[in-house]
Amino acid sequence: MKEEASVDFEEIEGEIELSPPEIYAANLIEWAVDQRASDLFVSDSENSVIIAVRRLGKVQTVRRLARDYGHKLQGHLRVLAGSDAGDMLRPTEGRGVLHTPNGSKVDLRLSTIPTLYGQDVTIRLFDPVRGTRSLTELGYDSYELEILRKMLDQPAGLILVAGPVASGKSSTLYAALDALNDESRKIHTLEDPIEHGIAGVMQSQVNHKLGLDFADLLAVVLRHSPDVIMIGEIRDSRTANTAIRAGISGQLVLATIHAKSAAEAIDSLVQYEVNPKFVARSLVGVINQRLIRTLCPACKRPSEKKANEVPERLKSRVPVSPEHLFESVGCEECFGDGYQELTCVSEILQNSSEIEQAIATGQPAADIDAIAKQQGMLSLAETIATRVLRGETDLKEAQRCASDPSLSSLEVS
Ligand SMILES: [Zn+2]
Repeated sequence: MKEEASVDFEEIEGEIELSPPEIYAANLIEWAVDQRASDLFVSDSENSVIIAVRRLGKVQTVRRLARDYGHKLQGHLRVLAGSDAGDMLRPTEGRGVLHTPNGSKVDLRLSTIPTLYGQDVTIRLFDPVRGTRSLTELGYDSYELEILRKMLDQPAGLILVAGPVASGKSSTLYAALDALNDESRKIHTLEDPIEHGIAGVMQSQVNHKLGLDFADLLAVVLRHSPDVIMIGEIRDSRTANTAIRAGISGQLVLATIHAKSAAEAIDSLVQYEVNPKFVARSLVGVINQRLIRTLCPACKRPSEKKANEVPERLKSRVPVSPEHLFESVGCEECFGDGYQELTCVSEILQNSSEIEQAIATGQPAADIDAIAKQQGMLSLAETIATRVLRGETDLKEAQRCASDPSLSSLEVS
């Protein structure tokens, strides 16, 4: 990349480089939230300070600042988040609330780390309006919502949410809690970190400094007579065993787990030295999800190629074969990248007597996956295909999200 003292970035309206850093910081954060950015980075490079945002999952550099000014900005951002502005030698953390010039409120969490040329300041932005989406706003279609609601209606058991980092797992958990939070249930969450406050829910934060991990908190929460428990992540044997015991003994437990597919999530759980029979008995279902970018409705256009007929397994979801698929273009509305927002796509595995039997007898993930598909579960790639066929996203984005050869056959080559 070319090194310059400063490059204009017209889209940050109304700011002048010489404006005081606190005003610049407020404008920058407000602009980043308007752009629906999830993170803002202000990082030292060799000759300048680079501002970048993560928007729809991708990092975009937006401006380079002269080092002096960039450092003042970094210092001010650290003050905003209540972290020591002077100590550049040690990593710091902080959180704060910014009241933007247009009157809205943004929660931010800051982390800094010393780097070769100075420091990297990373700010996660939590827009309260976007943070509390309901189940219907996550991007699930009516079939998927029906399955999810059925799972959440269970009085007890374990619901797992799987997927890599930044696959929207916490949005799904928050939305599920929102659906359950009707004052008829006592709900506790164990989180690391707490991303949003939810009225009426007891939220507790894992505290590594005090040696309080998920397993410690879970043991305590069980004495508080909960109906629903949300566990930020199952990542050790103690948490896994306690969560399953809670699921069997009458609580509904929601948790994320690291796994690549719904069936593998069951495997991951068993790996934590858990009796497979208890997993089989307590499991309600697994949601394995990713985030996909939807096409900007203002500029998307039909592809020149013809679409193939809808695959047999998807016909109940997409009854009419489209003539063409759609593809991204880019316009002012979508800041030129052709996509509008990130939504959830998922494969949802529901426990059944056959699956319960397979788990209890230690069958491999591939067999459990096969049973679930035979019972109607759409794989991640098949779910993504429904979004492509409905013109909600394009093949390029679909293939980025799931590299599955079946996707390219949706279109006549
Ligand atoms: Zn557009």
